[in-house]
Amino acid sequence: MRIVTPCYRGRFAPSPTGPLHFGSLVAAVASHADARSQHGEWLVRIEDVDQSRARPDAERQILEALHAFGMHSDSPPVRQSGRVTLYDAALHSLAQRELAYRCSCGRRRIAELGRPGREGPIYPGTCRVTPPAPYINSAWRVIVDGEPIAFEDRVLGPIVQDLIAEIGDFVIRRLDGYTAYQLAVVVDDEAQGITHVVRGADLLWSTPRQIRLQRLLGYRTPNYAHIPLVYGTDGHKLSKRDNAHPADPGQPMNGLRAAWLHLGQTDPPAEIRDVDAFWRWATRHWDIHRVPREQGPLNEPPDSL
Ligand code: GLU
Repeated sequence: MRIVTPCYRGRFAPSPTGPLHFGSLVAAVASHADARSQHGEWLVRIEDVDQSRARPDAERQILEALHAFGMHSDSPPVRQSGRVTLYDAALHSLAQRELAYRCSCGRRRIAELGRPGREGPIYPGTCRVTPPAPYINSAWRVIVDGEPIAFEDRVLGPIVQDLIAEIGDFVIRRLDGYTAYQLAVVVDDEAQGITHVVRGADLLWSTPRQIRLQRLLGYRTPNYAHIPLVYGTDGHKLSKRDNAHPADPGQPMNGLRAAWLHLGQTDPPAEIRDVDAFWRWATRHWDIHRVPREQGPLNEPPDSL
């Protein structure tokens, strides 16, 4: 059954690996402002499919922080850990059509065999040619083809990637049994009827893989916007796992204002002092064209294109 979607349904999809830090606050603010400025819906999805990384208190901390920053999901947040049957069905559909195959190669073997790609060695397809015996523990990979995947990013403009040249057949279920991020996110965005994805530019080069999966599974492709990352003084992007720069929900206006400025938006007038007033003002003044382009190496077109 096709889900009827509104013109705009966006989402914020944090992984519960630590408290909301300033980088994820920026992503939340951008996705929320973009949705509300277009009278759209905004959903929160807890991406806890990788239970080995999920931290017990993080989900509660993130949801409380979002609340304090004045961002409220239009329906109760869903958790990926409760949706494994949906991911299994998608994997089954790919496997049945021989678009995915089992792979028992470990990291070290892939590093030895693969030539360098954008995100590590490119898997040379060893197990596609010689499948592992049925009793051997295995991951699953989806097959890519040489047709370049192109999309128009609302911040970064035209993006194109040749998955064979840069990524190779990629993992959709991991050796440890967890569904890989790429498959889970695509299944969820479709099942939730997401029309617009606004997220950090660290995920820019995941999007062509996600579009590949959407096409193989007969799903719709949402609109994408990838926003600039926040870097710490050490030059690395902020990560929840480092416990870096937690956003202070006790002083929500400070965090909101800083996130807003990071997104290149005009400074809110001084008389805006509380969260509700901020959002009333912000939904009228959000302008995605002002969002700066990611300046880090993530945005550099690969040499091969
Ligand atoms: N769960 C991912 C993260 O916390 C975001 C995934 C997405 O927005 O597609 O970085």
